[in-house]
Amino acid sequence: MTTMLPPSESTSAHTPARIPGMTRVFSGIQPTGEPHIGNYFGAMRNYVRLGEQYGQDAIYCIVDLHAPTNPLAYDKATLARLTFEMALANMAVGLDPQKVVFFVQSQVREHAELGWMFTLSTPVGELERMTQYKDKAGKLESIPAGLLMYPVLQAADILLYKADTVPVGEDQVQHIELAREIARRFNHHYGDTFPEPKAVLEKAALRVPGVDGNAKMSKSKGESSTIGLLEPVESIWAKIRPAPTDPARVRRTDPGNPDICLIFDYHKLFSDDATILEVNEGCRTAGIGCIDCKKRLMVGIERELTPIQARAADLRAHPDTVLGGLEHGAERARAIAAPVMDEVRSKMGFLGA
Ligand code: ATP
Repeated sequence: MTTMLPPSESTSAHTPARIPGMTRVFSGIQPTGEPHIGNYFGAMRNYVRLGEQYGQDAIYCIVDLHAPTNPLAYDKATLARLTFEMALANMAVGLDPQKVVFFVQSQVREHAELGWMFTLSTPVGELERMTQYKDKAGKLESIPAGLLMYPVLQAADILLYKADTVPVGEDQVQHIELAREIARRFNHHYGDTFPEPKAVLEKAALRVPGVDGNAKMSKSKGESSTIGLLEPVESIWAKIRPAPTDPARVRRTDPGNPDICLIFDYHKLFSDDATILEVNEGCRTAGIGCIDCKKRLMVGIERELTPIQARAADLRAHPDTVLGGLEHGAERARAIAAPVMDEVRSKMGFLGA
């Protein structure tokens, strides 16, 4: 079951309204290191907004137990650093571990335990049908069982908190359907325990193009595709300056079409309305050149990213703030998870439960 996330509504400037039918939100964040502006506009800002609406019922987990299921990407030497970097970046954009529940999956042991319980009743055939599994397994010579179990652990992540809402991209919808099935099956065998979580998609699914001209900015396409959220402005300019624009604009005097220009897509994310109007008109009439247009874009990029980068630098200078925030989050997560695991063990009939 999938619904669209409506635009946030505010009852006042300080207390945004909750969305009917959504009581507790869960999101898993991959520890893939420094995020790019696609992650920021497509996901991270949304976490902050939902956090303002949901407070302690917004549960965000850096899913480091999931990361090693992909042996091609997993690196023992960098896992902890990438996890830290992802936490720092999310805190820098405004995710407040005192307001929401923000923690690292491996620090709350109940995830692995509930994941195991769910493997006991999930047919292997259902897991083998998962599109992501087929894609990833197809690239491997030897397939770790954990890769097959990935969506079972994901179901445990969500259901451990009895979350009913999971904001996800299109590619995760099939996994959420499976989580619903797992919840249903458990409830059928052991009595009503878990809600059936629903996937919610952003109303206008936002896709930030790569600075190399690729349709989607993506870490796996490498640094030439991405603009890092924490990348120095000079380095961003070094990527924006040569970035492709409308190929029909060969000379400065040729009019262009902003609708097919990635720089204009970026303007829509970073620039104010007046600048967007101005560059739109200036491009179509050849009133401004591409370099001028890109310089104006840099003004918006600096305005948006400078405060985030300043907060990130401050957090980096005080790593205990990041680690302490995560530990606080893990305590809160455990406080929710422990009684749920007690309930599960008891319903499944374990000795002493
Ligand atoms: P990959 O290379 O696997 O695509 P990535 O870091 O670029 O990795 P994901 O880890 O798949 O992206 O995505 C993390 C979150 O950021 C997801 O919610 C996803 O929808 C969002 N996201 C990623 N790239 C973009 C983009 N270019 N535009 C909008 N949202 C994006």
